[in-house]
Amino acid sequence: MPKAEETVLEIDLNALKKNYTHLKTKLNSNTKFMAVVKAFAYGNDAAVIANFLQTIGANYFAVAYASEGVQLRKAGITAPILVLHPLPSNFDAIIEHCLEPNLYNSKVLNEFIKTAATKNQNNYPVHIKFNTGLNRLGFTKNDVKLISNKLAETSTIKVASLFSHLVASEDLNEKAFTLHQIHTFKNIADNFSNTVGYKPMLHICNTSGILNYPEAHFDMVRSGIGLYGFGNSETENKHLTPIATLKTIISQIHTIKKGESVGYNRGFISDGNYKTATLPIGHADGIGRQYGKQKGYVVIKGKKAPIIGNVCMDMIMVNITNIDCNEGDETIIFDKNTTAEDLAQTANTISYELITGISQRVKRTFLK
Ligand SMILES: *Cc1c(COP(=O)(O)O)cnc(C)c1O
Repeated sequence: MPKAEETVLEIDLNALKKNYTHLKTKLNSNTKFMAVVKAFAYGNDAAVIANFLQTIGANYFAVAYASEGVQLRKAGITAPILVLHPLPSNFDAIIEHCLEPNLYNSKVLNEFIKTAATKNQNNYPVHIKFNTGLNRLGFTKNDVKLISNKLAETSTIKVASLFSHLVASEDLNEKAFTLHQIHTFKNIADNFSNTVGYKPMLHICNTSGILNYPEAHFDMVRSGIGLYGFGNSETENKHLTPIATLKTIISQIHTIKKGESVGYNRGFISDGNYKTATLPIGHADGIGRQYGKQKGYVVIKGKKAPIIGNVCMDMIMVNITNIDCNEGDETIIFDKNTTAEDLAQTANTISYELITGISQRVKRTFLK
């Protein structure tokens, strides 16, 4: 691997391929794979990630917002793209770029039909989301008749899929709740196809759903975090490889005497003789203040160096008292061994938050 000369997020596309291939082994050959590339592909660069996944066979893509879908179209993605959280103000752009909206309540259903009609659309592919317990977005099971009546009035749209989202697919203590969601979803789907007269594709599983509920893969699965190397469980993590390495270099080393302090507001006060390293990465790059005060750490020469004092906007200071290192040496924030999940846990958060928070200022590089 090339040595860092500045702060970089290095993305290993071979690891991405391995994760994709591993997740595919869990599926029947006719189950479609929707790659979730919202939030800049969880911080990894959506255009590069989606193009790579499109080449190796991903069938569908999902983004959160229409603007993310437009960017993918501009980057050459020709596969269908589901917009998970479209807003009526984006409907023109959605149709213009052949994006497929999630219609989650009567208001967006009606408004989308209106926009599609003014643009003379016929059988425009849409996806209907049902709320089976998350209480975030979606129609309820009692809305099938209402949707069916609306669909009967128009041929502008055609339902490509029905879907729902699991509340706690990674938490096996909530298995009964998850099974109930799956059961509810099946009933809705049966009711829908009986009422409307055709069978859209069905999907409910995210990454942990794929791993824990093979009986619920239906026609398609939606995977995000698994592609990026995290399986939300120790056993599953063994089969997946984090694709991103966040690394930087030591800018300056200081010797701190007893009683001196380090950083803003004297966040660290020395009780002895210390050696500290200042690194060019801070909360503006995605390392939040919650990692300061010895909670988070970085790895230098294979050893953990805790972050001391408060995280600054553009820098952190770490304790290197027992590490033989020099200015200019490489520093790992997270990689395949000391993972983003490990670091996230030090601040009581999850890998999703840490990796999606790495800001655009950090240069992305790619290994093939
Ligand atoms: C983000 C998201 C996913 C992907 O979840 P992972 O846990 O990252 O696999 C799937 N479905 C919906 C509706 C989402 O919002």
